[in-house]
Amino acid sequence: MSGTVTMEKVVNLAKRRGFTFQSSEIYGGLASCWDYGPIGVELKRNVKEAWWRDMVRRRSDIVGIDCAILMHPRVWEASGHIAGFTDPLVDCKKCKQRFRADKLGDVPCPEKPSKHPGECGGELTEARQFNLMFKTFMGPVEEDAAVVFMRPETAQGIFVNFLNVLNSSRQKVPFGIAQVGKSFRNEITPGNFLFRTREFEQMEMEFFVKPGDDERWFQYWLDERFNWYVNLGIKRERLRLRPHATDELAHYAKGCADVEYEFPFGWSELEGIANRTDFDLKQHAEYSGKDISYFDEESKERFVPYVIEPAAGADRATLAFLVDAYDEDEAEGETRAVLRFHPRIAPVKVAVLPLLRKDGQPEKAKQVLDILKEQWVVQYDQAGSIGRRYRRQDEIGTPFGITIDHQTMQDDTVTLRDRDSMQQERIPIERLVDELRRRIEI
Ligand code: ATP
Repeated sequence: MSGTVTMEKVVNLAKRRGFTFQSSEIYGGLASCWDYGPIGVELKRNVKEAWWRDMVRRRSDIVGIDCAILMHPRVWEASGHIAGFTDPLVDCKKCKQRFRADKLGDVPCPEKPSKHPGECGGELTEARQFNLMFKTFMGPVEEDAAVVFMRPETAQGIFVNFLNVLNSSRQKVPFGIAQVGKSFRNEITPGNFLFRTREFEQMEMEFFVKPGDDERWFQYWLDERFNWYVNLGIKRERLRLRPHATDELAHYAKGCADVEYEFPFGWSELEGIANRTDFDLKQHAEYSGKDISYFDEESKERFVPYVIEPAAGADRATLAFLVDAYDEDEAEGETRAVLRFHPRIAPVKVAVLPLLRKDGQPEKAKQVLDILKEQWVVQYDQAGSIGRRYRRQDEIGTPFGITIDHQTMQDDTVTLRDRDSMQQERIPIERLVDELRRRIEI
């Protein structure tokens, strides 16, 4: 019975139920910066945790790292960001707004009725290149020598630590280094809620391979990353892999494909998977003067590894999980939202609900709550009719509801309700943790 998902419905629900709030809202808000509320923070943590579990913890060939956001300015010279991390920018002489020259069709201009830039009769200036890195100063003096940048990607922290990780862990090529953390880009036209913001979190992994093995590994990571979203419940028909055309490829990349999701505003990139060759390690070797290469004990060869990079966005993925889970159904003549999250992604896993506010049921429910909160994020709710309480939970996507009723007080069993099938089963309290674990950790 699903109605059409629109961004407006998702954004409204997100605010009403505490997924996200506009940054600094009481001061009028800061454009395209978002804060995650009590439910949203759990959702985003689950997305990052699912990524870390599948990309690091469950594998023996990938290790993690957590680098400083501020890095030596030479890093960005070597990486090419100072010279080339730019977007073409145009100004409209009539409305005085700035737009990305290559995305004019995607954004409205402020002229009403809303038009695309250049269609309001205003003249657009020639495009000029605008560097997307945020600059700041390190230390008390604001001078050129003190300029540092807020990292625009997490990948470079991995490349500059390649030798450190190699020498301190027992990894051998092929192996990967993974990182989750904030990145900053002074985007010209941010928008579409969490999709494009100026401060966001990335989940990036650099996988180092022997040159010659790179194409096999590139294909491997395309499949792995596509399936990651499917396994966490994203509808396969709303996902696709789009290989980049040759003229879209970065000059150093041998191949690149995006995992795209069909958002209400159209097919858009969720994650990019690139074969970056040996470009980054060679650049850092040249700029730092260090020998950044790998000696293969087996073949007695020295080489600079090639790199396959799956680079995802935690906020974009969170948005995709939110949009994809959005559904509507009818209850008592009313249309209501239900978020059908995969149990691993759902922000709250279980709701504990005493049927009555008397006869010892609230006390019993709190005992159950205490057991479950050791394992998962759990909510207790005793306010209003049971139907209304289930609806509140369905709206934030809680997959399981536990009801404490008259029978519980006699035989220590509870009912366990499944959000999607709405089926209820009676289960002894002592079996609850095992049963929920079986259903959540799939
Ligand atoms: P786009 O073409 O959308 O600007 P990109 O190709 O520049 O993205 P990458 O540099 O490959 O993006 O970054 C990897 C991932 O980081 C993206 O797939 C996306 O999920 C995320 N990301 C990049 N820029 C932003 C942003 N401004 N806001 C939110 N997430 C972002």
